[in-house]
Amino acid sequence: MDQMPDITSPRILGDLFRDYGLQPRRHLGQNFLIDGNIVRKIVGAAEIKKGDTVLEIGPGAGALTLSMARLGAHITVLEVDRGLIRLLRDLFEAWPQVEILELDALKADWDLLIGRFEANRGAVKLISNLPYNISGPFMYSLFKEGFPFAEAVLMFQKEVALRLVAGPGDRDYGTLSVLSRYYCEGNILFEVSKNVFWPRPKIGSAVLKLKPRPRELSAGEEELLWTVVRGLFQQRRKTILNNMSRLFNLSRARLVDLLDEVPVSPAARPEELSVSQFAKLARITYNYLDKLS
Ligand code: SAM
Repeated sequence: MDQMPDITSPRILGDLFRDYGLQPRRHLGQNFLIDGNIVRKIVGAAEIKKGDTVLEIGPGAGALTLSMARLGAHITVLEVDRGLIRLLRDLFEAWPQVEILELDALKADWDLLIGRFEANRGAVKLISNLPYNISGPFMYSLFKEGFPFAEAVLMFQKEVALRLVAGPGDRDYGTLSVLSRYYCEGNILFEVSKNVFWPRPKIGSAVLKLKPRPRELSAGEEELLWTVVRGLFQQRRKTILNNMSRLFNLSRARLVDLLDEVPVSPAARPEELSVSQFAKLARITYNYLDKLS
């Protein structure tokens, strides 16, 4: 066995923080895992094996990172906290398969980052206990790039996890759900108690597995999908017809025809539409507008 400290021990983590003059920073969503079983469960869910290429967002003190490195994975971590980066660089000094980048995950150029792993392009796994304050924008940034990973195992606050997997008629169904289900197949693997974090957050978390889905739409149609989904859920109590006529400069009669082609009732509310109805609506509207121009 290697000489690494047990980063998931609250006492050892506390000592490391004291030695490096660190404090958990709330505005960076820092809640560190202090339960080795949960760490193993997350890494196990990602089926990490020797030679895997992994991107990890927000390694913190390296609990997940170390567990994956021990299994022989190559891991590139993105962290913004300089103090933690100092700690990580010292801890992982003797682990050449762990690359530590000081980089904001919201500003990452995924094409460039993933492009660096030439041999493993298309096979990169994404793992993270995500900082709760960036999870929504972070997921949108991945969807914008077409979710360029083989698969992802990500921990979210439970309410975000529910939004990501919600379907039509569910209370949590909204923009994030439709885009997540358009780009990915996802399911909640297990829930995680707030007691396994230091400091303890106010609410529990859930771990999700996400895999990219084949995309049905062209680039232009996808752009319109974002406009339609965002626009419709902005006023979710309004009918589809009223929403569409607010978004597009088309007559109501023309919009009724387009909706009929999907088919979707003009009186339906956004939360009743399935992902494939949203996709068809985007395709039909895009192609109609394209012909006009
Ligand atoms: N992976 C560690 C664990 O499970 O114990 C820490 C997880 S903690 C919930 C989130 C981590 O993400 C923190 O280390 C925090 O500094 C980092 N972080 C916050 N915002 C970030 C961003 N925009 N880009 C990259 N890392 C970020």
